[in-house]
Amino acid sequence: MIGLLAGCVLKPLVALPHPEPAVRWVLAEDGPISVDVHALQTGETDVSFGQFFGGHDGWVGRRGVWRTGFDRRSFRAPVLVFALVHPTEGVILVDAGLAPHQTERGFYRPKDGGRTAYIWDHRENHLPEDETLLAQLAAAGIAADDVRHVVVTHLHEDHVGQLETFDRATVHLSALEWEDRGRVAYGPSFDDVQQWNLVDGVTDLFGDGSVQLLPTPGHTLGHTSVLARVVDGGAAVVTGDAVYTLRHLDPDTLLPFNYYGEHALQTQAESVRRLTALQRDHGDLVFLLPHDPFDYTPLILDVLGDGVLDRADRRALEAVQRELFDAQGRLLPEHVPTWVRGQGL
Ligand SMILES: [Zn+2]
Ligand SMILES: [Zn+2]
Repeated sequence: MIGLLAGCVLKPLVALPHPEPAVRWVLAEDGPISVDVHALQTGETDVSFGQFFGGHDGWVGRRGVWRTGFDRRSFRAPVLVFALVHPTEGVILVDAGLAPHQTERGFYRPKDGGRTAYIWDHRENHLPEDETLLAQLAAAGIAADDVRHVVVTHLHEDHVGQLETFDRATVHLSALEWEDRGRVAYGPSFDDVQQWNLVDGVTDLFGDGSVQLLPTPGHTLGHTSVLARVVDGGAAVVTGDAVYTLRHLDPDTLLPFNYYGEHALQTQAESVRRLTALQRDHGDLVFLLPHDPFDYTPLILDVLGDGVLDRADRRALEAVQRELFDAQGRLLPEHVPTWVRGQGL
């Protein structure tokens, strides 16, 4: 996701806004409309161990970028897109995953995308034919024309790849993320969007509580997570890259690399704490992650195979989470990721 030259070409760092700890997200209790949820896998992308797990070991700021470029401990992470189906508002995609052109030599060109083209590398992306977003939508029984909204958690390449297909949809994005697009976003991947809706702060997308956008800055300036109300009073949060793996729900133990620096690393930790506080307050809330390389992703794909995140599915996802953490929410030592030479993760 981040190439060797990144440290030389990135724009200057900025301080990210810190979430206000006194503000807690609260869910409406009564009668929210629920949505169906489909999980669609659009291939995999190569990431380094330090990029995912190096935050507490100094993988921060420019130095972190540099180390990422030389980190040989590479593994593949899945790239998931989630499709929410609202009873009257149609299909809402959360992110647009990888697209075939992002795996092709020559797509990333400085003359098309400025210096950010140096950051991305087609060789890092892997997309089998049956895992293109269109193939995955078809397999879920969803016509591409029925996609009326796309929420983009942030503008990194593995989240906007197939956006061009949905040029009749409204694309929702944090205004902060849009303002900061020149930093690490590659324009040609989202230039075709006709209708942007730039949002600021917590946003109830349809005014009925069913889909809400939650600011979770830290990974990027305007990173946004998506809260969906599902059947029987349950809830799910699609975290985007605010939470790389389920293990990252304990930011005191595990943090990813952070490009923006130490302050942003703490911003990211605070975003995660807010998400876990929301889960504690609500009780029946699970997390849907795009990139977890462990057993959680196959389980997500399995329980969402029918497009309904019912109570039994939520219990199954929660059971995995419970196995990883103690009662105080600390990641159990045996589950802290390590890299074993010759074996990998
Ligand atoms: Zn990202
Ligand atoms: Zn990502």
